[in-house]
Amino acid sequence: MPLRLVPLGTGGYFPAHGRQTMSFLLVAGENALLLDAGSGVARLAEPAVAALLAGCPRLDILLTHYHLDHVVGLSYLSGVWRGRPVRLFAPAPPLVAAAPEEALGRLLAPPLFPVPLADFPLPVEVVPFTGPELTAGPFTLRLRSQRHPGGSVGVRIGDALAYVTDTVLDPETEAFVRGVGLLLHEVWLTDNEAGDGAAERSGHAAASEVADLARRAGVGRLLPVHHHPRRTAEELTALAAALAARAGLPAEIAREGEVIELGTEPR
Ligand SMILES: [Zn+2]
Ligand SMILES: [Zn+2]
Repeated sequence: MPLRLVPLGTGGYFPAHGRQTMSFLLVAGENALLLDAGSGVARLAEPAVAALLAGCPRLDILLTHYHLDHVVGLSYLSGVWRGRPVRLFAPAPPLVAAAPEEALGRLLAPPLFPVPLADFPLPVEVVPFTGPELTAGPFTLRLRSQRHPGGSVGVRIGDALAYVTDTVLDPETEAFVRGVGLLLHEVWLTDNEAGDGAAERSGHAAASEVADLARRAGVGRLLPVHHHPRRTAEELTALAAALAARAGLPAEIAREGEVIELGTEPR
């Protein structure tokens, strides 16, 4: 069964330069799994993405944490995923600090949003998770807690890919992602911006330390994600080139909406 990855949102904080905020779609046969639900969820309505999902009876969504750039797209669901059920995997303590019901109940409730999740015009099942493993259709996910304000969850799906965002550079990530085919790792900061402990204070990672991690972990290729809104397309191209040179492996900037063939079983 071919495994496909479609980046729907690759930016952090807010949409900028044509980039939406964090959301990555995985499709294997009739199984669809969304990693995070930032504003990139809006792209589920784009014809090419909708066509890819036409045969999927259900959408699974896994959240890494509850910051708005990873969850705001939940409020778009009834507009972009009509009728079919959704299963929402929501991280719970001790993986993250917040309780799922409370976090989701604050976002999806009046006065911020007219309809609570339970009253959505599509069935939404909330499945709290605490790790270290979780099964969603054919996907077996390994999960670990990361250091970020309020916590966040790192995800590995077999040897196909790992999704490590909203975290400081964590030495323990190396073992977690070792040998994975594709590493999606946040690069929120340039090396210049990361000086004087700024990376630690922001709860995010910087370029060179991510490249070094990817090299040490022997990953196949690197997809930097969670881009700062101020980065232009040209700056990101240069960033990818610098990461590739330092890591000694392919690194590229994903175009949102493009289909990346991972060509392997999800397990
Ligand atoms: Zn974020
Ligand atoms: Zn965050």
